[in-house]
This record gives sequence, structure tokens and C-alpha cells, in this order.
Amino acid sequence: MESLRVLELYSGIGGMHYALKESGIHAEVVAAIDINPTANEIYTHNYPDTPLWNKTIEGITLEDFNKLSFDMILMSPPCQPFTRIGLQGDINDPRTKSFLYILDLLPRLCRLPRYILLENVKGFETSAARDRLVKTLTECGYTFQEVMVSPTSVGIPNSRLRYFLIAKISTENLSIQSSRILDAFPHPAEQPKVLSPSADTCQPEEEVQEGHVLYKLETKTDAQRKMSQNNDLSLRLIQDFLEPQIDMEPYLLPPKTLLRYALLLDIVRPTCRRSVCFTKGYGRYVEGTGSVMQGCVETEMESVFTGLDQCAEDEKLQRLLKLKLRYFTPREVANLMGFPQTFTFPKKTTTKQQYRVLGNSLNVVVVARLLQVLLS
Ligand code: SAH
Repeated sequence: MESLRVLELYSGIGGMHYALKESGIHAEVVAAIDINPTANEIYTHNYPDTPLWNKTIEGITLEDFNKLSFDMILMSPPCQPFTRIGLQGDINDPRTKSFLYILDLLPRLCRLPRYILLENVKGFETSAARDRLVKTLTECGYTFQEVMVSPTSVGIPNSRLRYFLIAKISTENLSIQSSRILDAFPHPAEQPKVLSPSADTCQPEEEVQEGHVLYKLETKTDAQRKMSQNNDLSLRLIQDFLEPQIDMEPYLLPPKTLLRYALLLDIVRPTCRRSVCFTKGYGRYVEGTGSVMQGCVETEMESVFTGLDQCAEDEKLQRLLKLKLRYFTPREVANLMGFPQTFTFPKKTTTKQQYRVLGNSLNVVVVARLLQVLLS
């Protein structure tokens, strides 16, 4: 079979490229395009032979795109205009300009690509940008399917609910098609079911609580939800994703952070089957940016947190230090995001840069599964 020519837009650290490889589809990335210097360094480090264009997408001409003669577009447009926490500038946000440019260009290409896959945040599904995308695809004669899934639906103990759209030129139909947004993989018989949507949001869990607080600003509902995730055997254990031997020291949460944010942390142990979404602020900001790991599992969480707010600062810290709370390492975050061991960071990138680009990326296994559905 001839190899598919793939255009990877907003390529970042190459999450889409890894997904393409993982899917087993015979394909070649003919151009990857991004303007982020750090992401581009990491991309080239891992894919030295892929042509990487360090250019703004809206600066690339129709002619240049035509020359690439691609069969597939993989893209993750900037998500900030669509996040619930952001201002939701949608199509009026300058960061959406390049995406609108692509939509404008698509019908004018000499040859329409046979396949398109787009990834974005929850919130995109109700945006005007999504409506424009759907309109353009329909006018160009694509059939498409929208899906909102989290890595938990492929057995990975990490919540990262994302919007996906897969589209195929209509000479053949998609193997699945529904006018509603699917919330699970299209072949339910083969797939474990997704967890309740509330467990999959990317928001700090503590922000949405209501009801009686148990301890650590956790309500009964929070605790129950976490427990049910931890008991869901379709999900793998966190320990499968940890580095075998690490020096914990550089990853330990500093005293200041512990004292200030202890009650807001999402703490997991190696025997858990859950973690919250890792965002680009992980390691810098604490609230809602990702789970932290309890390094000392012998310490009982309740013995630390019960009555903590009545303790003097000194005792507070002594108690909290017993948990040996640490950040997941960038490698561990990459593992939870489905990146293979062959993916590495260039030596000169800092830990913070690594968290940042990972937070912007996607779950490789989820996208690989969607690509298989698209090509089936
Ligand atoms: N899927 C990627 C991440 C996408 S995040 C991954 O796996 O890493 C969105 C990316 O779009 C960022 O890396 C950002 O630098 C890039 N970007 C944003 N606006 C752009 C534009 N106008 N032209 C090219 N790249 C752009």
C-alpha cells in the first residue's frame, strides 16, 4: 500500500505524529508546522528527518500547501479561545485566525485531503469556530464524526477530556456515524466504557464541590468519585506509569507550596487508578494543574489532614512533609499521555519547559485509536 502523505499543523512536540505511528497506518508526515521554538526543538530532536516549518500557518500560501500534496491533515489549533476558564474569544480571538485561514484555504486546494483529524478542548463543541469547521467540511463533501473522550476510555488512569473530529471525503462513508457527539469510542463492544463525565473534566475538582466537607476540602461526592475510579479495573494502575528509580528530591513540593496549597492538591498513590489532567502550568502553579504523588505511602492521609487547619505553622509543615508529596516527572506525565519510550527531550530543555509543552499536547493512544476508526 502506498504511504499516506500527512500534514501536521500546530505540531508542537509531535503528539499527532506519535499517534500516527502508534496507529500502525502506513504514513509519512510531509510537513509539520509550528511557531513555538521549544516545541520545535523537541520535535526535531525526535523526528530529525521530518520537514518542520517554523512559520505561522497564515503566512503559508495556497501554492505552498498545494505543493505538499497531502492526503491527511492532523491538527490541534490553539485551545485558549475555547477553554471555559479563558475569555472564550472564539473566532474573535486573534489565536483563531490561523484556523480560519485553514478553513478558507481548504475548499481552494487542488486536491482535497481524504482524511482530517482535529483535536481541541472541551468547549470547542459549542463554539462558532466548530460551526464554521462543520460548514466548510459539509460544503467540501466530507462526512464527519465528533467524539469527546478521555484517556480513561482506553484504560489510562488520567482524565483529559477532549473534543475530536474525524472527517473523511464522502466517496466512502465513515465506519461510524452519528449526528450527536459520541462520548465513547465508536466500537463499544471492544472498548471499556468511559467514566461519568464529571470525573473527566480538566477543572480543579475542588472548585466544583458542594456539600459536606470531609477533610482536605473534599466532599463526600468527590471522595466517592475518586474511590469508584480507583476501583475501576478497566483502568491501569498509576504505578505502571512511574519511572522505576528516581531521585525524588528535585520533584518534592517545597514547604511554601505545601503550607499554602495543601488543601487544594489532588494527591494520588501508585495504587490509584486515577489522576487529573496535566496542564501547561504543572510544576509552577498548584491548583488544578495536575495530580501530585504521595511519595511515602506508609503515611495515612487522614492523620495528616484531620484538624490540620488548627495546627500551628510548624506542626502543619511537619505533618505535610510526612507524605513526601512530589510532582510527577515529565517522563511520567509523558507516559500517562501515551508517549512511547522513544520520545525524549533534548538535554537543554528545562523541566518547566517540558511540563509546559506536555500540557499543550495530547494523549497519543486516544488519537491513535481515533485514526484507526477513521481509516477503518
Ligand atoms: N498537538 C501538539 C500541540 C498543539 S498546541 C502537540 O502534540 O504538542 C498548539 C500549537 O500551535 C502550539 O505549539 C503553538 O505554538 C502552535 N501555534 C499557535 N498558533 C500558530 C500559528 N498561527 N502558526 C503556527 N503554529 C501555531
